[in-house]
Amino acid sequence: MAAPWEDVLRDTPAIREAAAVAVDAALLEGVLMRTEGEPNASDVVNYAPFTLLPSAVPRALFEQAYAVQQDFNLLVDAISQNKEFLERTLASTIKVDDFTAQLFRIHTQVLEEGLAQSVFLGINRSDYMFDRGPDGAAALRQIEINTIAASFAGLTSHTLPVYQRVLKVLGKSKEASHLLPNNPAKGLALGIAKAWELYGSPSAVVMFLVEAVQRNIFDQRCVENELWNRNIRVIRRRFRDVFAKGCLGEGRRLYMDGQEVAVVYYREGYVPKNYDQQNWEARLLLERSRAVKCPDIATQLAGTKKVQQELSRPGTLESLLPGRAEAVARIRATFAGLYSLDMGTEGDKIAATAIADPDRFVLKPQREGGGNNLYGEELRQVLEKIKDSPERTSYILMDKIKPQPAPNYLLRAHSPLRLSECISELGIFGVYVRQGKEMVMNTAPGHLLRTKAVEHADGGVAAGVAVLDTPYLV
Ligand code: ADP
Ligand code: MG
Repeated sequence: MAAPWEDVLRDTPAIREAAAVAVDAALLEGVLMRTEGEPNASDVVNYAPFTLLPSAVPRALFEQAYAVQQDFNLLVDAISQNKEFLERTLASTIKVDDFTAQLFRIHTQVLEEGLAQSVFLGINRSDYMFDRGPDGAAALRQIEINTIAASFAGLTSHTLPVYQRVLKVLGKSKEASHLLPNNPAKGLALGIAKAWELYGSPSAVVMFLVEAVQRNIFDQRCVENELWNRNIRVIRRRFRDVFAKGCLGEGRRLYMDGQEVAVVYYREGYVPKNYDQQNWEARLLLERSRAVKCPDIATQLAGTKKVQQELSRPGTLESLLPGRAEAVARIRATFAGLYSLDMGTEGDKIAATAIADPDRFVLKPQREGGGNNLYGEELRQVLEKIKDSPERTSYILMDKIKPQPAPNYLLRAHSPLRLSECISELGIFGVYVRQGKEMVMNTAPGHLLRTKAVEHADGGVAAGVAVLDTPYLV
């Protein structure tokens, strides 16, 4: 189903006017990013890239994605507590993937010592595309679940007035009034605030662990502001600061520069390039501490592609969520075909199928952040090369999702305005807090729609491929 602005899509003067309004509205509303040239200074900033128009999203699929989010929260939390499952599932991967292996070593070490942490906070984002079936009907298919540093809750909470303005300028006031409110930034902050409160030291701070390059700082500031508004102190530090100035006190309480830290919110630490030897040591220190890590290392491991693939095996969900048949059914209904490349006949068979028909699949390593997956001819060549080697087990194979493209304008600084055929990815944010064995919060506080031109197989907003969008339910 198309969005109701087909009639103005090719009206160039109207579109030009709307685009100028849109950009200024984005700047006014704080939909901002630092520039590539000056990623660590706010003297010069620009708008974060976004679509001129909302993209049509089937209402039923949107509702389905929200309805399954609390189930996914429970599932991720259950996996993070299941040492045996993580060990078994990641056994083949950690033999060939050093990054996952290092995370796993810290996980094991922390468990051996015994957890000092008793309050757990999960913030994730489950991403979906709308697959087009043979009958033309669209189906919700999970792309992945991000259990660490899932971004854009902040900026996307500021886009509603921008889209409302654009639609009004284009004479679509009625449609403007149908756009959905969306404030995941607040939902994330409520989770962090709850974890902070349960930690139980009113003078303790929340620490955002941030990367060296901080182009997306405004996204994080949105969540920070919500915490300051609740009188919770926020500090921003890097791994190297933790290495230099972090220490554990009595009961393995974490101190930074002498201040006790109640919650560590990672916006860093999800890719190998985030780590050197010192940073790994800092990570270990944080994981050993009593502070609430969002996520703890087990939850980060629960978000690996290998775990995602293992979840699709018959019986796995049932064993992880015993007695929750309805949740299991809702979760399973979102899965695309996922295949293990572990050594053995099953892996041999699917590797051969993918080499023969690469356009049916995506080949995924255990990496985050976009731009790592392999498609088409490249997939075929790589798989051909590694098909008889254990190296193949660092990847998984997934059915390629083929959504119906729709025309839109992608607004990006310094780029010409032109109509592109686009596809979208819907993310639902999940937030949960557990104290000991008791779940005390489990929410799905908002969504993120990202859209890219069809010619790009891979990549998110931070990778410079996708842009922010907002759903128009049809
Ligand atoms: P990352 O952890 O790098 O974000 P993803 O699994 O989300 O890895 O893949 C990155 C991008 O690649 C997605 O945002 C999506 O655009 C594309 N992609 C991933 N899996 C599929 C798939 N099965 N079918 C089609 N496109 C996919
Ligand atoms: Mg992704």
